[in-house]
Amino acid sequence: MSVAYDIVAQGKPAASARTEATPAARPLVLPARLLDTVAAFTHHRDIDALDQGLALSLAELAPARAVVLCKRAIDGLRRESIVRCVVDAQGAHVVDAEAVAGDPALARCMEEQQPHADVDARGLHRLFVPILHEGRALGALQLEGDAPLEGALALAEGFARIYANYITLLQESERDKLTGLYNRRTFERHLQRLLRQPPTAGVASVWLAIFDIDHFKRVNDTYGHVYGDEVILLLAQQMRASFRHDDVLFRFGGEEFVVLLAGHDEAGARGALERFRERVAQHPFPQVGHVTVSIGYARASLTDYPEMVIDRADKALYFAKQHGRNRTHGYEDLLARGALGPVAVTGSIDLF
Ligand code: GH3
Ligand code: MG
Ligand code: MG
Repeated sequence: MSVAYDIVAQGKPAASARTEATPAARPLVLPARLLDTVAAFTHHRDIDALDQGLALSLAELAPARAVVLCKRAIDGLRRESIVRCVVDAQGAHVVDAEAVAGDPALARCMEEQQPHADVDARGLHRLFVPILHEGRALGALQLEGDAPLEGALALAEGFARIYANYITLLQESERDKLTGLYNRRTFERHLQRLLRQPPTAGVASVWLAIFDIDHFKRVNDTYGHVYGDEVILLLAQQMRASFRHDDVLFRFGGEEFVVLLAGHDEAGARGALERFRERVAQHPFPQVGHVTVSIGYARASLTDYPEMVIDRADKALYFAKQHGRNRTHGYEDLLARGALGPVAVTGSIDLF
């Protein structure tokens, strides 16, 4: 359990340590383990796995009973997420995502951007360390232990810095450069996360909608690619303004967008999509004037493969394109009406 203190001492040797051990004589085992842990945790390419890796690495290296990572939503679109790693009675590390409410002291640590230690009502020693990037707190770490944790401060701060650098890179790689919306490679993770969320008051469904701009080639041909890109950018802004904060927005490719909506019944989902479609149709795009979108949507459930849901929404989109554009169709409704016909239509979107 003194591992972390040794590591901290090696990172910032005390004056006496410097005279006792020359650099060549210092044992290399602990730095090797530390490097191993850092390499393992930065191996992740997925933000959820990285978050869990951070909590786990710190719980393993610091003399802590539990480590909590609390993250602030980067763009205000996502709720704060919390990961907790606890050492159980057998000494095994158990990671629990989104499981606990954040301690107010965590929020204070982010606010003040300063580390801070205390002892809670149960007598647990706690250490709070902010995760800072370019003057902003991305989140904070909370370590809990039976003894004071100040000795693990340098270790936790070091991990917080590595994490901040790495998460910034990962976040950039998850987003589309032009619009800032999520890109397609993050789709499956977001879909699974929404599907696993406990349903709110009786409306359990997750809906996947695909939009495609109508006659977009004409926009490019008439006004040029730069204006075309501007329309894509402004459309993304309309999406942000129109959908709820917990709806997840993607640019899937060129002028195709996806929205994941949770917590609606069919009428609610359709209503949200129709409001967006009308909003776009009424919006004056500079120079270009009016632009419309066609929308197809389908229900997603835990047993579906993501590609199947995309395919169904895409069939409804194709139907909307075939029947006048600037309209919204739902796959299940078309199917129930027999409108899709016995032969599967081929949609326009590339499957994985
Ligand atoms: P439809 O109503 O059937 O969707 O007609 P469309 O002209 O929009 O046809 P489609 O969706 O098949 O083609 C999209 C066109 O959008 C093809 C390409 O020229 C253009 N495009 C795709 N990505 C971009 C992009 O990033 N920027 C710009 N400016 N144009 C793009
Ligand atoms: Mg298209
Ligand atoms: Mg199009």
